[in-house]
Parts: sequence; structure tokens; C-alpha cells
Amino acid sequence: TDAILSVENLDVSFQSHNGLIRAVRGVNFDLKKGETLAIVGESGSGKSVTAKSIMQLLPKKTTVINNGSIVYEGEDLLTYNKKEIEKIRGSEISMVFQDPMTSLNPTMKIGKQVMEGIIKHQDVSKKEAITKAKELLELVGIPNAEDRMSSYPHEFSGGMRQRVVIAMALACDPKVLIADEPTTALDVTIQAQILDLMKDIQKKTGTSILIITHDLGVVVNMAQRIAVMYAGQIVETGTLEELFYESNHPYTWGLLQSMPKLHQDRSVPLIPISGSPPDVSQLHDGCPFAARCPYVMKVCHSHMPDQSKLSETHSVACWLQDERAPRVEKPDLGGE
Ligand code: SF4
Ligand code: MG
Repeated sequence: TDAILSVENLDVSFQSHNGLIRAVRGVNFDLKKGETLAIVGESGSGKSVTAKSIMQLLPKKTTVINNGSIVYEGEDLLTYNKKEIEKIRGSEISMVFQDPMTSLNPTMKIGKQVMEGIIKHQDVSKKEAITKAKELLELVGIPNAEDRMSSYPHEFSGGMRQRVVIAMALACDPKVLIADEPTTALDVTIQAQILDLMKDIQKKTGTSILIITHDLGVVVNMAQRIAVMYAGQIVETGTLEELFYESNHPYTWGLLQSMPKLHQDRSVPLIPISGSPPDVSQLHDGCPFAARCPYVMKVCHSHMPDQSKLSETHSVACWLQDERAPRVEKPDLGGE
């Protein structure tokens, strides 16, 4: 296949005082070379847990990966030890998080922080690292990059800090960039600039991007393909067009109905659907959306629907796809 990263049957639980909580339940997806795939879902849907599993960033003590594999270039990253994964992290696969300050050291000059990433993974002299750091800061649109090398993070705005973090993430030409809510902490105009920057970089470098977001505006702006997550499962996957114009999952319909207009560049909060996401510690068999679904049937409460393949790129997990299910009329999703 042309997948650079494949997550297969991933199943992750957390230890809690009530016992094990299954946060991710049999998740499957491929990230293809050069594409942007968005995983979209409400908070608590397991999307960040999925992203963090890839780089082994979950707390070892309380996390149990029950099942699955994460295949990168033919190797299962879940079998890697700490040293091996650290070698991959930042050189092959980089991550950008919501809050740039989680990645920046407040007491260290910007230039030095970018250089550190370069020196850690590449055999270059200090002089070469300085040049490359300056180039990276220019690439991500930091004005007067050479001078700004000697600034500290607090001397930058939030948007500029996220640009620096992206420069650090790119320091070693990663093949995969995982961005977990990279613009959520930023105001709307800056959000759009950061997304444009990521698209630009992808054009220049061919990096594959996995973006984790709750914001359909980000999805429309960035992604070619989308995986919709609900309660630890992927309930629908498709191309941008398939998801926006031909979606077949009642949860996806709810998300889309909450969205004003596709061309409107605004942040859309999810949770448009009545009721709240289930407490994943209370989930039993059956479809996790059953408690909120306007189309729920008896079978939904007791049996999880299989993934139905609607096209090469489009699949959905819903009993409405079963030939015995009643035909339902899709709501008006306001497509244009
Ligand atoms: Fe709704 Fe049933 Fe489909 Fe789940 S399987 S989304 S409850 S119709
Ligand atoms: Mg999150």
C-alpha cells in the first residue's frame, strides 16, 4: 500500500480507581504518503490517546495497550523500546501539541531550542545547525529570524510560539507530522495562518500530516480524508467530499448540522447533538452512540455494527447499513 503509517486494531485502556477504562476500542486507519488525515471527535473520544499511542507518550504506569499494532515503514512501533522510539520521535515522526509552551523551554533562547533538535538527530557542526535553525524559522514565517534566535519564548506571541514549535518539529525533515489540536489555543485569524503554514510546508516537503481536532473548520481547511471518532471507535471514514456530502452515520450528521456553512471560516464547537458523550467506563456491547441516536433500533443496544464499505475510501459502522434496517431519510446537511 501507499500507507506510511498504519494503525491496526488499536485498543488502549487506562487504569482508574474503577478498574480499566477502554479509551480506544479497535481503531484502524492508514495515513498515506503526502496526505493530511484528520481525526475528528469530541474531547474524550480517544483521538488524543490514539495520537499519543503512536509515539508512546502515554503514561506507562496507568496505560495498557491491550491489542493492536502501529506500523511505520514495515515495523511495529509498539514493539520498540524507549531508546528506539526516541530515535524515531522528532526525526521520522514529529508531534505538535495544542499548547506551544509544552514543547518550549521558557528559560532557553529560541535559536538554541531549534538547534538542539537538529544536533540531536543530525551529524552537523554547530555552525551548520545555526544556519539550519535560521532557515527553519524563516520557513515558518518568523520575521527577522536571525535576530529572533536570541529571544526567549515569552517574547513571542502565542501564534509565533506555535510557529517556533512547528520549526522544531520540522528540524529533522520528519516523514510524518502529528498535530494534536495545533490551533485550538490560538485566536481565529492566527489559526488560519498556522493551518496555511502547515499546508505550505506539506507542499514543500511532502510530509504526511495526521491532524487531531474537534473543529470541523480545521478539517475543511486541511484534510483530504477524515476519520470520525466517537467513544473510542472510528464510526465513519471517508474523503472530505464523502464525509461532507455523502455521510452515512447519524453522529456525523449531527456534527455537520452543527456547522454553519462550509465556506465560512470559523471555529465550530462540536457537541451539537442532544445528550452527552457516554462515560466510556460505562459502555457495554452495542453501538456507543445508541443513547443519543435519533435512529436507534433494538439491535443497536446489544450489538456493535460492523464497518460497511461504501466505496474504496468510505466506510461506516452503523446498523442502518444493514439490509434489514428501515430506510431513513437523511437530515438536510446544508451542503452547497
Ligand atoms: Fe444509531 Fe444504531 Fe447506527 Fe448506532 S448503529 S448510529 S445507534 S442507528
Ligand atoms: Mg485532546
